[in-house]
Amino acid sequence: MHDVIIIGAGPAGLSTAFWCDELGLDTLVVEQAERIGGQLHRVYNPIENYLGLKARNGEELLELFVRDIDSADFDLWTQASITSVDLKARRVSLASGESLQSIAIVIATGVRPRGLGVPGEREFVGKGLIESGARDRELFAGKDVCVVGGGDAAVENALLLAEVCPTVTLVHRGKKLRARREFTERLQSNHCITVFTESVLTRIIGDESVEAVEIQRKQGLKPFQLAVRGVLIRIGVEPNTELFKEQLETGEDGFVKVNSQQETSVPMVFAVGDVSNPIAPTINSATGAGATAAKTIAARLNAR
Ligand code: NDP
Repeated sequence: MHDVIIIGAGPAGLSTAFWCDELGLDTLVVEQAERIGGQLHRVYNPIENYLGLKARNGEELLELFVRDIDSADFDLWTQASITSVDLKARRVSLASGESLQSIAIVIATGVRPRGLGVPGEREFVGKGLIESGARDRELFAGKDVCVVGGGDAAVENALLLAEVCPTVTLVHRGKKLRARREFTERLQSNHCITVFTESVLTRIIGDESVEAVEIQRKQGLKPFQLAVRGVLIRIGVEPNTELFKEQLETGEDGFVKVNSQQETSVPMVFAVGDVSNPIAPTINSATGAGATAAKTIAARLNAR
């Protein structure tokens, strides 16, 4: 029996564990991946807005986190695949056959990129689908590319790619971009970038690798093909809640609902990080939520 089981070892889960350890709680972190760090492995651009420190990318920030948690005394199991979670009983079953029990559970399972679900999206992984403008832009330098989405991620990537690509076509389903003003202003003054609003990408076409995309502009208009060698899709994220979404309250978008103490609708079950934060999913808020959850758990245990 542990005091706390934390599911997920991204910034939110690690911060929760770090704080739980500080507060003297017997803590186990269960992570299905081989490496801890979660989405930090997919942050390829500099982290400049984490108060007090800067990092060249997510990997470098993770190194700083690891330096701190190395001296902490919580258990950490990686490559531990969870088959089921009973939140009410606070029981976690692993594929290895083990069953774990705790007084509190912290859900820190994060989010995954949303897919378009169009033909070609899976087939061209590694063959013209761009994972990150920051990481892959040298690979696509000199090539025409297409970016899908209208939020910060899509526009930021379009701007990065426009530094090395002759043309970047941004395809957005809505009338207006959702991205922050700082990005949209830079977009307007960038002559390499064409923005198609009220448009959807319906197909990715190619033989060995991406050669074109099919775009449907405004409903009713005939789709047309645009020759591109790279496609980057950034249309938001989906929460990783499959293990427990029927057991607790979630919002319409599927994100776990929490109060200001990170408590979910199930007693002694908490959620931290992006899985419970559709509005402001930053590394700062993830690590802060971890501290809040840990302090609340410690207070609840002390009051028993
Ligand atoms: P957002 O949820 O902000 O935006 C997603 C965009 O994708 C929206 O414009 C949405 O359109 C569109 N979209 C959603 N589903 C579909 C679909 N099925 N087909 C076509 N288009 C679709 O996600 P982001 O990934 O841009 O950003 C996530 C979070 O990360 C935000 O909080 C953002 O601020 C943050 N972020 C911060 C950065 C930074 O600080 N430098 C960089 C990148 C992201 P519609 O508008 O019509 O709903």
